[in-house]
Amino acid sequence: MLVKVKETKTVEVETVKDVLCNKCGKSCLPDEDVQDAYGLIEATVTGGFLSPALGDMTRYVFSICEPCLAELFKTFVHDPFVPEVSDEGPEGPPNAVEP
Ligand SMILES: [Zn+2]
Repeated sequence: MLVKVKETKTVEVETVKDVLCNKCGKSCLPDEDVQDAYGLIEATVTGGFLSPALGDMTRYVFSICEPCLAELFKTFVHDPFVPEVSDEGPEGPPNAVEP
């Protein structure tokens, strides 16, 4: 038989206070009141076997904020944008120029 008693304990926990962009160093949190970071958060990539670019099985973990992602996307040869289809038709990216 287990003899149980009620105790009050203080437990120390680790929480995420902020997420910093690896590229610009700024916060990925859009607002102090918002707890979800915006952008590519804690992405992991590992260099393939004998990878000459990233290093053989070398692991990277990083976050990139939305403004840095927007700038990065502009450098892409192939646009990564995926149009969102709504009732009013496909929408362009936020910085798209209307024809
Ligand atoms: Zn950034």
